[in-house]
Amino acid sequence: MIPFLDLKSINAQYRAELIAACTRVIDSGWYIQGNECNGFEVEFAAYCSTKHAIGVANGLDALILILRAYKVMGIMTDSDEVIVPSNTYIASILAISQNNLVPILVEPDINTYLIDPTKIEEKITSKTKAILPVHLYGQTCDMESINTIARKYNLKVIEDSAQSHGAYFGNKRCGNLGDASGFSFYPGKNLGALGDGGAITTNHDELAQVVRALGNYGSHKKYENLYQGINSRLDELQAAMLRVKLQYLDNEIEKRREIAGYYLENIKNSNIILPTLRAEDNHVWHLFVIRTQNRDELQKYLSDNSIQTLIHYPIPPHKQEAYKEWNSKNYPISEQIHSQILSLPISAVQSLENTNKIVQALNDFN
Ligand SMILES: *Cc1c(COP(=O)(O)O)cnc(C)c1O
Repeated sequence: MIPFLDLKSINAQYRAELIAACTRVIDSGWYIQGNECNGFEVEFAAYCSTKHAIGVANGLDALILILRAYKVMGIMTDSDEVIVPSNTYIASILAISQNNLVPILVEPDINTYLIDPTKIEEKITSKTKAILPVHLYGQTCDMESINTIARKYNLKVIEDSAQSHGAYFGNKRCGNLGDASGFSFYPGKNLGALGDGGAITTNHDELAQVVRALGNYGSHKKYENLYQGINSRLDELQAAMLRVKLQYLDNEIEKRREIAGYYLENIKNSNIILPTLRAEDNHVWHLFVIRTQNRDELQKYLSDNSIQTLIHYPIPPHKQEAYKEWNSKNYPISEQIHSQILSLPISAVQSLENTNKIVQALNDFN
């Protein structure tokens, strides 16, 4: 079977360095909020060219804490609205509703699968306080249009960069394209820890201070609590793993680009729609997503040919039990995407031989 993602082989590339980093943490006797987390924050902020990076426990917490900080700072209040794409991983939406804010779903562009900026303005009301664009599958959203709208209506822009570490829009990387950004280091992400991890990036000093305190019980100073915070920290062991893997991220992205380029050039089947990319640098290919009318058939056919594929994602957020109040609403573009998409195997350790097998199988499908 050609695996969708071979995490074991990905991490095996760095085995010796990961073990050395692990040993360093064990021997330090310091496991939370120490040199590794500080070091990673400095290195990750430099990678994104932002003033601040703050390590947190996971990607969902990163987004939750940014919105919580805006509430603490008096910029948002209960029942304010946040615009978010209707096709995204559920975490983007949970971050909003868990803050007693209201997610306002906006349909994506059928070609890029990213939030359609031409549909944002019609959803803005006096309660709208932010736009939360998701750089889905590894491609940055049209941030020029989104930031122009945000400036016009005085809205915050919070990027969900969980799938797009390293992707550019123009000459800036994601994490540096809005007011603040949430990253996930879930093991399967392009920059993956060996457990859970996340980070917030921002250029705003006050926001950085507030999210840092909120993730540490609301405390700036030991045993003094300014806010009712939570416990969401990036531990030393995961930070040490991430410091090793961050050094190789650009190299891994390059390898993903080679595989994506090979797929784009060689998959020739009129029943299969390939991804649309606006510019090479915008896409880091966290997922290579194709679209077809006969998705379920294609998935079974590939599986019969020993090729594992996944669907990101099978059920749109508005059709989830968790959001019953939306179940009868129509988001036709999102529904079409969810019923037609299929993610092909892609990673830095995938051999050309396997990529070619996948291409041949796809070209023989009818
Ligand atoms: C993975 C992901 C998250 C959540 O990250 P976790 O670290 O798993 O909490 C949020 N948004 C998107 C788009 C994601 O893909």
